[in-house]
Amino acid sequence: MARCCLGEGSVAYLPVEQLLARQSKRLQALFRHAWRHVPYYRDWMAAAGAEPGDLRCAADLRRLPLIDKLALTVEPERFAADGYERRDGLTLLSSGTSGRRRSFRYDAPALFEALSAGRRQRLALRHFVGREAGYREAVFNREGSVGQQLRRFWEDRMITPRRIDLVRRPFSASARFEDLLAGVNEFHPQVVRGYGTHLGAFFRWVWETGQRIDTPRAITYGADAMPKADRQIIERELGIPVLSSYQAVEALRIGFQCEARSGFHISVDQVAVRVIDPEGRDVAPGQRGELVITNLTNYAMPVIHYRLGDLVTLGTGPCPCGRTFPLISDIDGRLDDLIARPGGTWIHALAVLAGLQAVPGVRQVQVIQEDLEDFRLRVVWARASGQDPVRLRSCMAAVLGDSAHVRVEPVEVLEQEPSGKVKTVICKVRQP
Ligand SMILES: [Zn+2]
Repeated sequence: MARCCLGEGSVAYLPVEQLLARQSKRLQALFRHAWRHVPYYRDWMAAAGAEPGDLRCAADLRRLPLIDKLALTVEPERFAADGYERRDGLTLLSSGTSGRRRSFRYDAPALFEALSAGRRQRLALRHFVGREAGYREAVFNREGSVGQQLRRFWEDRMITPRRIDLVRRPFSASARFEDLLAGVNEFHPQVVRGYGTHLGAFFRWVWETGQRIDTPRAITYGADAMPKADRQIIERELGIPVLSSYQAVEALRIGFQCEARSGFHISVDQVAVRVIDPEGRDVAPGQRGELVITNLTNYAMPVIHYRLGDLVTLGTGPCPCGRTFPLISDIDGRLDDLIARPGGTWIHALAVLAGLQAVPGVRQVQVIQEDLEDFRLRVVWARASGQDPVRLRSCMAAVLGDSAHVRVEPVEVLEQEPSGKVKTVICKVRQP
């Protein structure tokens, strides 16, 4: 473990040919594994007339059909490798972007690889924090988040020596901003980590209301996006650098920002990517397209040539930091709204969505905030019987309080945005 973590410092600077050779080797091994052990890929390759030997490198992927999110959501068991449910690993439960709760299986080696790859961003953070370990990190999170499930898995199985660990303190993303501020000022974190939208709203509130804050040395987020205007306030007005990482439940480490913050370095040893147009053709660097990923690390539920659903732009040149990992210069999408609360504060959408999506019989759910205390839930139920709107209302009340008025509307489907995504939270309340 320690040895594999130490290599993390240099891998991002390896010559490109070495990186691609490493990627190709892993891709071939994953493909052989999927062909032998995963029902979906066996049929998929047979239908495409492909054999494991046909795939030598990432460029060969374009000869294969694309897999979309729906296939994985509808039939997750067909993506599970034979026998892997009995091996050590973790089934991650994720809420959010598609409006439905999903489960995704990882094997233990992939989870530990994700843990050690976290050091890639820590080395970039060191630039601002002054050291790589031992600092205080405030985590704005919610109970049951993917990040928390991962941390529990790691902590149950290993002891991290104090000299290479952090001092972490969790804060609830559904807490009032006043309480979060008091917690930060009491804990004095060097780094604050959380959701992009939520951290953006919190630090904007700090700045707009002229609160005194014990300024962290850096802010970092993954998962959803931070609005550009919020990022500017944090970096220019508050003087705090913001670094983000790019991850998904299907690939835990796609990319990370370095100290230059000119884009996201893609961890090409762990994930192979393509960026395509609507017809499935590669688009040139500098042009926006849809990201297609192959996760090279996880054998329990392989994801090969998979449309992640995000729109991204590949960078056109090298990064001034000297890392050879290629860059994604821009990521579009993943802008879920926050939920407005009295007193001008906001909470993260997942604080309510996670509970709603876990109610039995709920296939998909969308939260529409019409006014401060007026909510509409649009719900796609799995069956006509067994619908439980009372339980949905009590989930809302548990986070928002009894003053929130909630209407539940059963619907056949949730409307999609022009991008094809379903927006799970729509907030019509604007800041005063
Ligand atoms: Zn860089």
